[in-house]
Amino acid sequence: MSTAVALRYRFYAARVRAVRPVGASLVRVTFGGEDLVDFAGGGRDQSVSLFLPHPGQAAPVVPVEAGDNWHPAWRALDPQVRAVMRSYTIRAQRPERGELDIDFVRHGDTGPATRWAGRAAAGDPVLILGPAVPDERSVRFQPPAGTDGVLLVADETALPAVGAILDWLPAGTPVRGLVEVPEPGDIQPLPTEARAEVTWLVRGATAPAGALLPDALRATRLPGANPYTWLAGEAGMVRAARRHLVGERGLDRRRITFAGYWRRGASEDDLRAEAGA
Ligand SMILES: Cc1cc2nc3c(=O)[nH]c(=O)nc-3n(C[C@H](O)[C@H](O)[C@H](O)COP(=O)(O)OP(=O)(O)OC[C@H]3O[C@@H](n4cnc5c(N)ncnc54)[C@H](O)[C@@H]3O)c2cc1C
Repeated sequence: MSTAVALRYRFYAARVRAVRPVGASLVRVTFGGEDLVDFAGGGRDQSVSLFLPHPGQAAPVVPVEAGDNWHPAWRALDPQVRAVMRSYTIRAQRPERGELDIDFVRHGDTGPATRWAGRAAAGDPVLILGPAVPDERSVRFQPPAGTDGVLLVADETALPAVGAILDWLPAGTPVRGLVEVPEPGDIQPLPTEARAEVTWLVRGATAPAGALLPDALRATRLPGANPYTWLAGEAGMVRAARRHLVGERGLDRRRITFAGYWRRGASEDDLRAEAGA
C-alpha cells in the first residue's frame, strides 16, 4: 500500500462518552478522546469503519501495529477474536472537544453492531478508521457544478447522513427529502439553513424497509431544473429508486449518487466477502 493511502486514513482511539435515544429506533453514541481532536471529517455523509469488541473483550482487537498491512493482518485473525468492523456515518463532529456522534439503528438483536449499540455505556472503547485529511473519497455527497436543487432519498440507516448533509448545505439551497422510518417516534427535527421540504414516511412495524419509498419517489417533483440526487439505505430499495430515476425520469446518471448501506438477509461481513470475491 502506498504512503498516500497511509496518510489519507488513520485509526482513532475513542471511548463512549454518552448514549441517548434519538427517536424510537436510533440511539446516538457520543465518542470522545484525545485522538478525535485531529479527526478530519468532511461533513455531509462522511463514513468511517468502526471496530467494536466482542462481548467479554476489554477492547477491539485490531493489529494496528501492522501499519498499512492492518487489513490482511486483521483478516488472518479468528473472526471470534478480531474486532467487528462496520460502516457508520458521522452525524456530527466537534474536534475542539475531541468528540463525534454516530447514530445507530437498533434493528433487534440480529447483528453485532446493533447489539453493541444497545448495550453501549460510558467508557466503552472502540477504534475508528477515518480520514486523516478531509477526504472526499469517503464523502459521497458531491453535487456537481450547476446543481440548483437536491433530492435526498433515505431509510433510517441513512437518516444520520441526511441530517449531516442538511447541516452542511448552503443557506437557501432547495432540497426535497424523502425519509422512510419504522415508527412515528422516529421523526426528528432536522435543523438546516437550506430550503428543505422533508416528507417522512412511516412504514410501521410489519412492512419491510423501503416499502414506501418507491411510490413516494414516483409522486415527487424534482427540485430545480438541474437537480442532484443522493440515495442511500437498503440495497434493493436504492437500486429500484435509481432505476426509476434513470430509466423512467431520464436523469443523467452522473447527477445521482447512490449507496446500498445494508442488504436484507446479508450481514456486512457477507457483503464484504461478496465484494472481495
Ligand atoms: C457508508 C455507510 C454508512 C452507514 N451509516 C449508518 C449509520 O449512520 N447508522 C446506521 O444505523 N447504519 C449505517 N449503515 C448501515 C450499517 O452499516 C448496517 O446496517 C450494518 O449491517 C449494521 O451492522 P450489524 O452488525 O448491526 O448487522 P449485520 O451483522 O451487518 O447484519 C445482521 C443482519 O441484520 C440485517 N440488518 C442490517 N442492518 C439492518 C437494518 N438497519 N435494519 C434491519 N435489518 C438490518 C442484515 O441484513 C443481516 O440479516 C451504513 C452503511 C454504510 C455502507
